[in-house]
Amino acid sequence: MAKPIVRFAPSPTGRLHVGNVRTALMNVLFAKAEEGMFILRIDDTDVARSTAEYEQGIKDDLSWLGVTWGKTFKQSERFGMYDEAADKLRAAGLLYPCYETSDELDRQRKLLRVAGKPPVYNRAALDLTDEQKTAYEAEGRTPHWRFKLSGGVVTWTDMVRGEQKIDVSSLSDPVLIRGDGSYLYTLPSVVDDIEAEITHVIRGEDHVTNSAAQIEVFQALSTHLPTFAHTPLLVGADGKSLSKRIGSLSMLELREQGIEPMSIASLLAKIGTSDAVEIRHSLEALASEFSFTKIGRAPARFDEKDLIALNAKLLHETAYEDVADRVPGDAAFWNIVRANIEKISDVDSWADIVLKPMSGEIADEDGDFCKTAAEFLPDTVLPETWSALITHLKTETGRKGKGLFMPLRLALTGQQHGPSMDDMLVLLGAEKAKARLRGDTA
Ligand code: GLU
Repeated sequence: MAKPIVRFAPSPTGRLHVGNVRTALMNVLFAKAEEGMFILRIDDTDVARSTAEYEQGIKDDLSWLGVTWGKTFKQSERFGMYDEAADKLRAAGLLYPCYETSDELDRQRKLLRVAGKPPVYNRAALDLTDEQKTAYEAEGRTPHWRFKLSGGVVTWTDMVRGEQKIDVSSLSDPVLIRGDGSYLYTLPSVVDDIEAEITHVIRGEDHVTNSAAQIEVFQALSTHLPTFAHTPLLVGADGKSLSKRIGSLSMLELREQGIEPMSIASLLAKIGTSDAVEIRHSLEALASEFSFTKIGRAPARFDEKDLIALNAKLLHETAYEDVADRVPGDAAFWNIVRANIEKISDVDSWADIVLKPMSGEIADEDGDFCKTAAEFLPDTVLPETWSALITHLKTETGRKGKGLFMPLRLALTGQQHGPSMDDMLVLLGAEKAKARLRGDTA
């Protein structure tokens, strides 16, 4: 296969969320797997809603995920190209002016629905005479422009969905240019895909119908036609749409919650595929396992619990060198606490327990027991000291099980759970441990 050229084309009208990051990843991983090029296209033709801050946010989010692009450009700098393409379509009789107001169109759709017919645009504007058009314009109406679909059947072989057949006579002629002269994404996207020689358009399956119309626009403008791949949408763990919660599933939010980029990338690359959901440590590793044939047709379930579990797993496998600049303490500390954290910020509370003065919890009935423990402790604690202490206290006091070790854990750390006490005792050191066992702040 010739080296693919793919693109991810977000609109800078918000931050990236798990849904569009999944689309980005499908493009990135396919390009990496095939040694192709990944292009970042900024779809900012809607100048009123697009902002430079969101554009930067999108770039920051992708960079944070480890994504790099071979090229980036924005549509707002290319209106000249779109105007040329629109002229070409007009000259071919494929782009026609329409003067209906949105109220009029709404009414027409309602009438069709009541009559049990699909709400397809009636193409009345095709029959307008020049005089009628002039009269509308004299009324102050500015036309929106529709692309004239062929009325035939559009077919393509989708890399995910297989053979696709769409009867475009069941679709309304798509509006390419709004009444205010601004472009919807349909035409600019095709023009850019032709110009950038995009080989594969990889996007969510909400675009399947658009693809049928866009294929006809491609054919009207060029001989270039990319291959299409439409991936199933993401749904929540309950199978319901994520659209209402999507704001809280932005990269920004997840990042602030302490989720690591490779946890997100691993989950989004694997859900909805035949592969197991497992942590991978690089996009390259994910790319080496990527294949469209592994992507199922059912919606992919996104569960935040899986994300937390993967994040914990990733941190448990992370070497100190890779987090040294983000965590307190040293390698010994990290190696002991990492198995007990889900997010990197969880390290802080363990650092506080080990490094800051505190007194643990000692119940009245455990006071003497803990003092006995303090007396037994040698001046230097080693990894084997804890089990020696436990054996000693068992014989000495007759306590066993939870009644034996839990009062010690509580006195030393103030917590019921945590890293193994063999290690914790070494991290605390003899002096601090003895003091806390006596009930002192240390
Ligand atoms: N800006 C469009 C969107 O985000 C791009 C769709 C495409 O990939 O062609 O829906």
